[in-house]
Formats: sequence, C-alpha cells, structure tokens
Amino acid sequence: MTGKSLDLARAYRVTDGRKFRLERYSASETGPFRSDEDAKAQSLLAGSIDRIADLQEKLYAQDHWAVLLIFQAMDAAGKDSTIKQVMSGINPQGCQVFSFKAPSEEELDHDFLWRTMRCLPERGRIGIFNRSYYEETLVVRVHPEILAHQRLPPELVGKRIWDQRFEDIVAFERYLSRNGVKIIKFFLNVSKAEQKKRFLERLDSPSKNWKFAAGDLKERTRWDDYMAAYEATIRHTAKPFAPWYVVPADNKWYTRLVVASAIVDAMSEMKLQFPRLTDEQREQLELARTQLTQKKRS
Ligand code: ATP
Ligand code: MG
Repeated sequence: MTGKSLDLARAYRVTDGRKFRLERYSASETGPFRSDEDAKAQSLLAGSIDRIADLQEKLYAQDHWAVLLIFQAMDAAGKDSTIKQVMSGINPQGCQVFSFKAPSEEELDHDFLWRTMRCLPERGRIGIFNRSYYEETLVVRVHPEILAHQRLPPELVGKRIWDQRFEDIVAFERYLSRNGVKIIKFFLNVSKAEQKKRFLERLDSPSKNWKFAAGDLKERTRWDDYMAAYEATIRHTAKPFAPWYVVPADNKWYTRLVVASAIVDAMSEMKLQFPRLTDEQREQLELARTQLTQKKRS
C-alpha cells in the first residue's frame, strides 16, 4: 500500500467554497471503514506515513517547492495528536511546526499576517501551522472585543472587515502558491458531543489534566457562532490553489488517515523528483570515485 494513494480525502476537499455548507459534512463518519476497523486503518496509515517520508525527501532534494499545512479546529478536536502521528515518519530537519496562540504585544503592533509570514516554510520544507491567520476570521469574529484590541485605525474597521480579511487571505495564499508554496488546509470537524466526551476525559485522566483549560468551556458555549464563522471562512477561502479539507474528527484514527491521505495526494501531484545530474556533475562523481579508490590503495 506504500505506492498508491488511498483516495480517501477527496470526499472532504473543498476547492470552491461558494456553495459550502458545513452541515453537509459529518463529524462522525468513517468513510469506507466500519467504526471498529481502527486496526485496519492503522496499517494503512503506516503506508501513507512512509509515502509522505519518501515524498518529503524528494521535496527537500529538489528544493523548489515548499508545503504549508494549516490546521484549524475547535478545542480537543485532535490537532496536536494528528500532527504528531501523521508527521512521525518525517526527517525533523525537513519539517517546521509553529503554534499560534493569542498574539503578543509585539505581534499586535503589526498587521495580522506578520507573525505567520515570518514562519513560512523555506523551499524544500514542510511547514505546519497549528492554528494560523485563520484565527482572525474565527476567534476574532466570535469575540469582537479582540478586534478592538488590535489597535487598527478606527476608520479602517467597518462592516466589511470580515470580507476584507477573506480577500486579503485569499490574495496572500494566491501569492504564496505562485511562489511555489503548496497550501493544504485542514478543518478537523469534531462534534459538540465528542468534544464534551474528550473534555471529561481530560478531567478524569491525570495524564490529560494538563490539557484542560477552563477557558475552553467558555468557547464551547459559543459553539454555534464558531460553526458559523468556520462556514463563512471556508466558503470564502476554499480555492483550487488552497483547498480546505473538512475532516471528520470524532474518530481520531480516521482523522489521521484522511489527513495523511490528503498530504500524499497533494504531494504526489507535485511531480517531486531527485535532481538529475548534469554530465559535468557525473564526471565529478567519477573523478571522486577514482580519488577515493586510489587513496584506499595507498
Ligand atoms: P490545545 O489543544 O492544547 O488546547 P490550542 O491550540 O488550543 O491547543 P491554547 O494555548 O489552548 O492552544 O490556545 C490558543 C488560543 O489562542 C486559542 O483559544 C486561539 O483561539 C487563540 N488565538 C490564536 N490566534 C489568535 C488571534 N490571532 N487572536 C486572538 N486569539 C488567538
Ligand atoms: Mg486550547
């Protein structure tokens, strides 16, 4: 199973958001698998992880493209564990992960893309954003008081602010794609009931206590507002050059498999290959071989 794509992810890909409706996407489905087939999924995941590692070596060697993976989700949807599992086969030198929390004073002193722009992956690398500039049309939209703290000139904050942010994000992503950055965006779509279950686990299990933040419960009370903000965000920013994947996230094993499959699909389409040697480079290799073998004799 290492060579072929599983083709699981296509059903969740949105490349044209204009008619996007979140309610059409299930949080709990497990695609072609029964809900108890997690062991089978595990071995398929191992195949996809190997494939990502292979593709990443070529990405690095070729040094033309960069890959940017963006993860957005409600709390406890499994962003951290998905990133950890799916990228587990990758050479750490070829991969950079950045988490974006509430902005610092320094970050607030700049435009909203500034802090993420500084963290974009170099050519040859996979960059992962654990949250991103999309918080600007999600948490900030749900909590307008955050916008008030961004110190924007008041005359620039009008009714069209969210549409303007969508436009700016789309323009930014188009710019990146024209510069060789392959963007793939994941919304891990967890249900409200499953979030409750996971929060309770965080309270019950000592090894998970640290993950519980009282503030998360407050955000949970705004669930519907968040879903509306996600829907608007995906509707305005899903493009062929920067697709969203709305990934069912109630079963973690399925989430990982879909995310891995989406990465394999996208990177397979990039025609990544090891650089071809020129005749001159080949001659140099031959010369090096001769020198090495001569040394051995001496
Ligand atoms: P965990 O799964 O461990 O809870 P997390 O990604 O939720 O990880 P936290 O430290 O709990 O990390 O939360 C980060 C918080 O920062 C989130 O509530 C998020 O909405 C908020 N945040 C991120 N970007 C911005 C932003 N631009 N403006 C305001 N808040 C932001
Ligand atoms: Mg959190």
